[in-house]
Amino acid sequence: MEATDHLRDSLSAAVALANVFGGEFSQGRVRSAGDAAGVEASLRLATWRIPEIDLPTFAAGGRELYGVLRLLVDGRVDAAADGVNALLESTRAMPRLVRDGDEPWHLHFVSPGVSAATGWLAEFATAVAMVVGSDWSRLRQCGAERCDNLFLDTTRSRTQRFCSTSCQNRTKVAAHRARRP
Ligand SMILES: [Zn+2]
Repeated sequence: MEATDHLRDSLSAAVALANVFGGEFSQGRVRSAGDAAGVEASLRLATWRIPEIDLPTFAAGGRELYGVLRLLVDGRVDAAADGVNALLESTRAMPRLVRDGDEPWHLHFVSPGVSAATGWLAEFATAVAMVVGSDWSRLRQCGAERCDNLFLDTTRSRTQRFCSTSCQNRTKVAAHRARRP
């Protein structure tokens, strides 16, 4: 596994968690309140060891991540950097080599003694910090009506406009209807 794979997984999970708690609309509907299942689905993008879900901590962190990522999408990089620094500080993110059983050593950003939820938020804040410090052009907001979801454009051509095929289809149908006399 390359160091960048780990970062990419953490970043995908950070964006997914942000979408669980941030923004007003998701895929054409008013966003439902984020729940433990949403947190778990986000974490699964980065790990197969799901901790007990501390919902209030993940909810607060998810909203903060959403705020920071939105600032980045809007080009407000200085404000995003301030937000990321605040998250790194509050989660006490700290680089540390860890090893589970026979696994090779790998770099995590979890301070000893913090809760599992805070540890994950530290990982996510670090992943976002690395993107703020390099290239965030793949981070987008969904182009569909009534959808505030953020996503990472994984297409080679960097032309992805929607968070999901559901939003893409909804937009196509709306455009088709608008063209009809
Ligand atoms: Zn969408």
